[in-house]
Amino acid sequence: MIGLEGKNALITGATSGIGQAIAIRLAQQGCNIAINYRKDPQKGVDAEEMAIQKACGDINNCGVKSLLVQADVSQESDIVEMINTVVEEFGSVDILINNAGIQTECPSHEMTTADFDRVITVNLRGAYLCARETIKHLLSQNRPGVIINVSSVHEIIPRPMYVSYSISKGGMENLTKTLALEYANRGIRVNAIGPGATITPINQDWINDPEKKAIVESHIPMGRAGTADEMAAAVAFLASDEAAYITGQTLFIDGGLTLYADFRDNWSA
Ligand code: NAD
Repeated sequence: MIGLEGKNALITGATSGIGQAIAIRLAQQGCNIAINYRKDPQKGVDAEEMAIQKACGDINNCGVKSLLVQADVSQESDIVEMINTVVEEFGSVDILINNAGIQTECPSHEMTTADFDRVITVNLRGAYLCARETIKHLLSQNRPGVIINVSSVHEIIPRPMYVSYSISKGGMENLTKTLALEYANRGIRVNAIGPGATITPINQDWINDPEKKAIVESHIPMGRAGTADEMAAAVAFLASDEAAYITGQTLFIDGGLTLYADFRDNWSA
């Protein structure tokens, strides 16, 4: 892909799923990769630490630089420190991927304020604060840059029982568009991807249950869930100069999920 070699990319929540696939894909394209993770790896060998080691190994195999940056994106001070660390170590953040995300399932009338806030704070406020700090840095160095938000098909499809998640991704659409418009004339492009059902740890509930998986896939026009690599390929395109004239857009990667699949058959006439 044109224009990725030698760029410095920061990916939040990069130790699993879509974030990890993006980190590896951008490394394969020659980007130096700052891997954001939430936990302290000193706390013992756990799944996340193993994932961190694997991600670093895969990235280092590509012959690019890797950097681990611990930050909880729900904490403003962590975010400020994370961006400063990447700038100090790499010299710049040319590409920011706002990938970290969580979800909570609960009837909307029973959701606690704390659970509601937690999801919004990570998924939406965290993405905004990471973008804000990156944009400040880019403007201060008069550099072009790219921000990509990992949104969801639930940016436009309501998701009952996941009200905070739906709101966070709906908000991400306007976060993407507002920042894109505000900084378009300063060389900063802001786009999003909208994954459909994707095989990652966030979907453990149905991935390992053949019956539930079949139900999920029955709603997808292409008949299967997507892979993290398929999401990463689209991110690499949007981050590259191949997408130099694209800003403010969400690219849905969903096997046709946003095509109103229930209208495949003519039930309305
Ligand atoms: P995942 O659970 O594997 O990844 C989420 C990552 O975010 C994890 O690495 C986690 O450690 C990190 N994270 C969570 N809270 C954090 C915090 N406070 N600070 C820093 N990191 C934090 O799941 P995934 O499917 O790879 O999800 C990645 C993104 O893709 C999310 O934003 C999710 O909403 C979005 N998405 C996923 C799907 C899907 O079907 N898997 C569909 C649409 C959108």
